[in-house]
Amino acid sequence: MSSLDTEIAVVGGGPAGLFAAISAAKNGSVTHLYESKSCIGKYEHCSGLLSIDGLNRLGLSDLPQEMVQNCSIIGSRLFSPSGINITVQKSSTTAWVVDRSKFNQHLSRLAEEKGVVIHTNSKVTSIKRDNNKIKLSLGKKSPIKNVTSPLLILAEGRFPHLNQQIGLPSPSYGEVVFTTQYIMSGVKNIDLKYVEVYQTPEFAPGFFAWIIPISEDEAKVGLGSRSRPTGKYLRHFITKHPIAKHKLSSASIEKQMSGAIPIGSFIRKTYTDNIMVVGDAAGQIKPTTGGGVILGGLAAIKAGEMAAEALQTGNYSARFLSNYEKYWKKEMRSNLTIMKLVRQYLNSLNEKELERLFELLSTQKRKEKISKIGDVDNQKKIVFKLLLDLRFLPFVAKTGVKFLIKTKRKKVI
Ligand SMILES: Cc1cc2nc3c(=O)[nH]c(=O)nc-3n(C[C@H](O)[C@H](O)[C@H](O)COP(=O)(O)OP(=O)(O)OC[C@H]3O[C@@H](n4cnc5c(N)ncnc54)[C@H](O)[C@@H]3O)c2cc1C
Repeated sequence: MSSLDTEIAVVGGGPAGLFAAISAAKNGSVTHLYESKSCIGKYEHCSGLLSIDGLNRLGLSDLPQEMVQNCSIIGSRLFSPSGINITVQKSSTTAWVVDRSKFNQHLSRLAEEKGVVIHTNSKVTSIKRDNNKIKLSLGKKSPIKNVTSPLLILAEGRFPHLNQQIGLPSPSYGEVVFTTQYIMSGVKNIDLKYVEVYQTPEFAPGFFAWIIPISEDEAKVGLGSRSRPTGKYLRHFITKHPIAKHKLSSASIEKQMSGAIPIGSFIRKTYTDNIMVVGDAAGQIKPTTGGGVILGGLAAIKAGEMAAEALQTGNYSARFLSNYEKYWKKEMRSNLTIMKLVRQYLNSLNEKELERLFELLSTQKRKEKISKIGDVDNQKKIVFKLLLDLRFLPFVAKTGVKFLIKTKRKKVI
């Protein structure tokens, strides 16, 4: 078979593409998904830390336990460069750590149950518009060479190639953090209930380092940085960081992965005639933490619904599909914008200023406030609450001016 016609074509078999396909098929559309790799979930380039609330919103409250590596997370331990530790926590489980390969494979099973046809080894190399339809050309490995479809959802992930072919923007390459993550065994002194986050410009410039426990002595240990090689930064963190080295320096590396996170926030436009863009390819990812599964997934579900509705009404116009963007912008634009500012602001602080920030945050009252109001998927609430705290004012005023000057000179990320 070298040509195929479908009602909805989805490019990319990551979570965003899979959620979009599931939702389109659920709403009655013939949906085909194209994934360039030889299988879904081939590489696990993610920590798989997902909020319970987010999973519920994605309709995944009954995630099979075999893919859940840790279901005990109640909070985070945030470390300043010198080791001031702020613990923020809820009274019950707030997040699960999942095996991202198994998670993607689970989504692909759900998609197939809904009737989605998944084509692996199927890299989409180019797209063209032809008579109110989209024509996809596929790469050498694919038995299908061309696909024609009135509706297309693009979910290529962090470095999309197809967005620009139809005149849509891509996440800015200049605003990306590079990451390396190890799965380590023999890790000491970790607590299954807490994710550890190390905000330290010396070890992780432009982002942070993390230890995410998956058993009493195993953890996902990773680091994001705006410069490379991140493997070198991660080894430096493991062997030299004053706190982390006592937990990690005698641990063994079981698995290694690397990836990139676009932290420049959402792209300017995510739809055009016949086409919508979802997930990392649309910059639907939190610039503060790099979490993209929940937000990208929620937007993708809406894109799938809109595509199905467009088919039913025979209206594939940009005007009609703009409802997709209206939805996701209403849900997350202000949050993503604030998270981007927070990320840029944090990156503008030097070690001394970060220490001061941690000192200010580490009073009992503030820790309680952050624990109570903090929400990993909706961070604007806590940011506003803290900004209203008068004791922050002199610090924010001083560092804020410096931040504004740096932002003007584009020297923040
Ligand atoms: C180290 C690291 C840790 C992370 N930790 C977390 C976390 O704890 N929690 C969280 O929520 N998020 C996390 N993220 C972010 C998360 O991984 C992404 O936001 C998420 O995977 C985005 O999903 P996506 O479907 O948009 O893209 P992807 O998962 O990148 O999927 C895109 C898919 O499209 C395929 N593809 C690309 N181009 C084509 C093409 N032309 N034709 C066919 N197929 C194509 C790719 O092979 C890939 O399978 C992390 C990221 C990194 C790098």
